[in-house]
Amino acid sequence: MTKKSMDKIMALAKRRGFVFQASEIYGGINGFWDYGPLGTLLKRNLREAWWQDVVLFPCRGALGPNGEPVRMVPLDTTIIQHPKVWEASGHVAGFSDPMVDCRESKARYRFDHLLVFAPASGDTQGKPYFAYLTDSPSEAKQKKKAEKAFGDVITIALSEVPKDAWARVLGPDAEKVGSLTEPRAFNLMFKTYVGATAGEDDVAYLRPETAQGIFVQFKNVLDTTRVKLPFGIAQTGKSFRNEVTPRNFTFRSREFEQMEIEFFCHESEAAEWYRFWRDTRMAWWQSLGLKGENLVLREHDREERAHYAKEGAGVSDVEFRFPFTDPGFGELEGIAHRTNFDLGQHQKFARTNLEFFDSDRGELLPNGSRKGEKYLPHVIEPSAGLDRGVLALLCEAYTEDPSRPSPELLRLHPRLAPVKGAVFPLVNKDGMPEISEKLHAELVRKFYRLGPIEHDVKQSIGKRYARMDEAGCPYCFTVDGETASAQTVTVRDRDTGAQERIGIDRVAEFLAQKLEQS
Ligand code: ATP
Repeated sequence: MTKKSMDKIMALAKRRGFVFQASEIYGGINGFWDYGPLGTLLKRNLREAWWQDVVLFPCRGALGPNGEPVRMVPLDTTIIQHPKVWEASGHVAGFSDPMVDCRESKARYRFDHLLVFAPASGDTQGKPYFAYLTDSPSEAKQKKKAEKAFGDVITIALSEVPKDAWARVLGPDAEKVGSLTEPRAFNLMFKTYVGATAGEDDVAYLRPETAQGIFVQFKNVLDTTRVKLPFGIAQTGKSFRNEVTPRNFTFRSREFEQMEIEFFCHESEAAEWYRFWRDTRMAWWQSLGLKGENLVLREHDREERAHYAKEGAGVSDVEFRFPFTDPGFGELEGIAHRTNFDLGQHQKFARTNLEFFDSDRGELLPNGSRKGEKYLPHVIEPSAGLDRGVLALLCEAYTEDPSRPSPELLRLHPRLAPVKGAVFPLVNKDGMPEISEKLHAELVRKFYRLGPIEHDVKQSIGKRYARMDEAGCPYCFTVDGETASAQTVTVRDRDTGAQERIGIDRVAEFLAQKLEQS
């Protein structure tokens, strides 16, 4: 596959109102993005697809490894939680990426994001190591300098540069060597104050993940619903991380939305539920059109696992090959067996028993029932990023077809397409606008729950098709000279450009069928 241009994708996203820089008229604010009208619809459709396939009709009816339908309930918890929540979860102490500052340029980098060009021979002969950030202008600039100094160069992580040679590292944006500080911890949580006094006792944090709200309400959910283990709690919502180096468009933002499931089960069943969710979530992304070599499921090796993932507990990522990570991949969703770490921590910090009494387990009693077993459930967490999902879909859908008058189109899955259909009069006379307006009104009434249907009378028909192609609209219906007499319209397919005639009274049924099939 030829590499897609991120610049072109971003230009289309801006030009057609998918994504805008937040506070753009003030020069923007780094790490924050707004969604324009089309982007808002696309994002809502992706959230809605998740909601339907996770909460309303879990796994589209597929049975879990226990042979039963998957049970799931929704939840909506607050962005600001009791500060103790983040102590218990380990975020206050551990949620920090080591970072490196440049004393000269004042830039700040994530330690694990900095790479270094070093001589292939291994001997720098007193010359500098050239540090850079991948996919940034510093990469080409530093490579040129390193090749001039050493000839053949290799790339190593900054962490591999011997400590005593740090004074000889040339920072990505520096003129002089030795400007980089040692890596330091940096807390990624946004701090705020609750109440008017704004003293140290009033400190609170914006949630860095939606997951903890679920753990904290686990007991209430159990006590107020008839749900029993194994079951999941699902939630979507905003999360905030003061990322050190927000970049790559919306991929790494400081405010973003997550779609998270915490699935609770007995420890003995955790491994099979982990595999079930890992495979189900991968298949879900594939069903939305992220397919083939651009999507991979990657199992973590032991060193990468987070603090809660103990020996043997699986962690994997669904990863997409974005134009800016190509040939590498970037994470869309993480699926982790979190063990009972979080519930255990909240049980300890809140001094509340969070154990579940499972009446289907334990010794078989003479009367045929079970003695029951009390335990702290294990958790499988599929945690997806909504914004990263939207970005992956835009990148995957973006297509250039030079044979078209306007060569850019978005091949979005009809389920996700922001605009579901469009109606045009071929020309603005001979009764065509009246017929197309009527057809449009009928389609709007039938399809408004799924998304807008456009009506466009301006400019040439070719330009109107091109506009719809760029918006990812799957079908356009055109009222033309034959419509009045033959009671037919043309349907144009976005992906093939092919046109066919169908009866005007069949348009709604045709569109319903196409949207339903997807
Ligand atoms: P990364 O390693 O890329 O920082 P992570 O492993 O810290 O991500 P998780 O904590 O597993 O991410 O969060 C779950 C999901 O939330 C990620 O798969 C991603 O889709 C999304 N996400 C996390 N951080 C961001 C961010 N800064 N901007 C946008 N989405 C994010």
